[in-house]
Amino acid sequence: MKNRILLINTGGTIGMIGEPLQPSKDWKEITKNHPILWDFPVDYYQMENLVDSSDMNPDIWLEIAKILKKEYENYDGFVILHGTDTMSYTASALSFLCKNLSKPIILTGSQVPLAKPRSDALQNLITAIQIASQYKIPEVCILFRDNLLRGNRSKKIDATNYFGFSSPNYPVLGEIGAEIKISWDKILSFPKEKFQVEENLCSDIIVLEIFPGMNIEFYNTILNSSIKGIILKTFGNGNAPTSLCFLEFLKELQKKKIPVINVTQCIRGSVEHGKYAASHNLISLAVISSKDMTTEASITKLMYLLGKNYSYEDIQEAFQKNLAGEIS
Ligand code: ASP
Repeated sequence: MKNRILLINTGGTIGMIGEPLQPSKDWKEITKNHPILWDFPVDYYQMENLVDSSDMNPDIWLEIAKILKKEYENYDGFVILHGTDTMSYTASALSFLCKNLSKPIILTGSQVPLAKPRSDALQNLITAIQIASQYKIPEVCILFRDNLLRGNRSKKIDATNYFGFSSPNYPVLGEIGAEIKISWDKILSFPKEKFQVEENLCSDIIVLEIFPGMNIEFYNTILNSSIKGIILKTFGNGNAPTSLCFLEFLKELQKKKIPVINVTQCIRGSVEHGKYAASHNLISLAVISSKDMTTEASITKLMYLLGKNYSYEDIQEAFQKNLAGEIS
């Protein structure tokens, strides 16, 4: 008989051993010093190549989504071991790829490998397994230290601290202490339709972060590329330079029907087009507001919508819709 949880290992610090750190061979090697883990109701699946999550990419996201599709009916929940660096990107991508999710998909990792003393891995791993097996949460989440977060609202905010993740624009879904307290009123409702997995992502996009003194000459070269979308990282509530050359650049993108998504450089808060004169022009230039979405969610949502071959006009509309709890 199958166990109730499928644990998918993609790599990252959590399962690494040795000096210098490298991926363990298998579940037995990962859990060597922690026999307590052998008693959990877990089946183990290892991706063909375990990667530092700096090497994570849309092809691997689609591969994970395919595994989830294949095994969906066989398990009550899924735990994904992942490097912390890009965990929020993967969680966001999976939240768009996995439609009508009615089971938990919990991503977790650690700042220090499970094999080392004082590691944060054991608590993260056991809690992720317990939540995936005991709580019917229909969401892609990140479990890290004392928090259960909505994946597409999460952000890695610290390179070493054990409280490494945050969800700046949405409350935590669960608090982990002696007890696991889930905030059910914050959790997405159960879908009415059948689980389904999307099979395409298009990553022909760039992230363009503006800064005082930027020379727009360099950016104009983008106009001759085959780019299909831009994430424009702006100041504060979505403000951008009002110089003629910058507005001309945006006008050219509009003419070429290349969607431009306005995402704030701030960790917390929302893009509000028209609040300041410095964002007013963006409205007539058809720049799309990401509102309070994270950069990670904005990038993966754009990849997802472009992957569906949506037209420029459809993307304008679809981007601002709430697809998986990523936007308020
Ligand atoms: N560089 C590692 C990774 O993201 C860091 C970690 O796992 O925490 O794969």
